[in-house]
Amino acid sequence: MPRATAAPTAATVPTAAATPTAVAVPTAAAAAVQGSTFGIPGVLQHAHFLRDVKQAEAIRQKIIENLALAGIPGRPLEEWQRLLHVVIVGGGPTGVEVAGELTDFIANELRKLYPERAKAMRVTLVEARELLGSFDASLREYAARKLIRRGVVLRKGVVHEVTAKEVVLKDGTVLPYGLCIWSTGVGPTPFTLSLPFAKTTVGRIAVDKYMRAVPATSSAPPSSSPASPSPSPSPPPPSPASVPSMLADESDTPSTARLAPVPHVYALGDCCANPDNPLPALAQVAEQQGRYLARVLNETARGPTYGQSSSPQHDTPEFAYRHLGSMATVGGHSAVLELGDASSRRSFSLAGFLSWVAWRSAYLTRLGSLPKRLAVAFDWTVTMVFGRDLSRW
Ligand SMILES: Cc1cc2nc3c(=O)[nH]c(=O)nc-3n(C[C@H](O)[C@H](O)[C@H](O)COP(=O)(O)OP(=O)(O)OC[C@H]3O[C@@H](n4cnc5c(N)ncnc54)[C@H](O)[C@@H]3O)c2cc1C
Repeated sequence: MPRATAAPTAATVPTAAATPTAVAVPTAAAAAVQGSTFGIPGVLQHAHFLRDVKQAEAIRQKIIENLALAGIPGRPLEEWQRLLHVVIVGGGPTGVEVAGELTDFIANELRKLYPERAKAMRVTLVEARELLGSFDASLREYAARKLIRRGVVLRKGVVHEVTAKEVVLKDGTVLPYGLCIWSTGVGPTPFTLSLPFAKTTVGRIAVDKYMRAVPATSSAPPSSSPASPSPSPSPPPPSPASVPSMLADESDTPSTARLAPVPHVYALGDCCANPDNPLPALAQVAEQQGRYLARVLNETARGPTYGQSSSPQHDTPEFAYRHLGSMATVGGHSAVLELGDASSRRSFSLAGFLSWVAWRSAYLTRLGSLPKRLAVAFDWTVTMVFGRDLSRW
């Protein structure tokens, strides 16, 4: 499963020893997120999330287990079909890539090993809004066409409930499954939700344009820096999110622009968003925010007002994000690639084999160290030559 580079989200934090007076050391929260469930019953208990390596291993084990169970003779047809049905919820890049990978697995390893089970295995991708919603329309269509051609059933719908064996959609459709993969993006962790800061409609920490957290109540002390906006008159701050809806729009969160920040508290990465310009939960966002905050905190520590102000120095620029591009594989050595921002005129789109090569090269070169790059290149080569490993231990 592709993961972008580990984002250097820990900004360089000045130590208390460097300060002339006893002051609060700036805190940078990068407490991340976990798979979002939107409070839908049964998701936590029955679905498999895809966020870390342990979860990816659990998915692999489940597929192997279901294939073995489907091999036991005398199973009723319906049960056999259920075991061989993978339902993926969430048609973002991760859901699409998993669907594409599964079709590769079925067409290659499974077809050779268990041809009957390969023929019966089905993959359904459920999406509430638009498949690959952040991509250009032509790339979205390409991805949908490619997935359908490779046997993936695309379903538009909102999940109502997940039981031990079925995914139930709001329109009443029941999808019996052997494996349900939940990939609807990221939601806040209990830790993030417990923090006394304002949250966006999807539960991320609401920050201002300098990545500063704002209080959940309007009792924050006013900031003394000209870089920070006047605290009054303040609109009511965004209230902590309870259970965000699957269709919640983060930009519906009240603006943080006129709120006084919480002194010395910053947030970055997946766990936060500026409601005036909510950015996607991407490594490239977290990385740029990490670099920005490192610079701001170092400059603040060097400045004459450090320790007396809760804000960056006067000339601190606000955080500006530069979108480098998006990529997603769709199976069969194909990918969709978009360089630059799709909404700007200076973007470039490509779909097919060349995009897949670009995708592989990008991920390989973005890995943090040479041994990691060699290990991944070696794994890819072994898989290409010998196929995926289906052994259980
Ligand atoms: C399957 C998948 C594929 C992805 N693919 C891409 C991609 O192709 N391109 C891209 O740009 N992005 C991708 N992303 C998103 C990218 O991984 C994240 O945006 C990025 O890792 C965010 O960085 P972060 O530092 O905010 O959070 P994380 O990288 O999640 O790091 C947060 C850290 O905080 C730790 N933590 C959490 N709670 C606590 C606590 N209470 N106390 C102490 N530590 C805590 C966690 O253990 C974790 O190590 C993908 C994500 C997933 C799940």
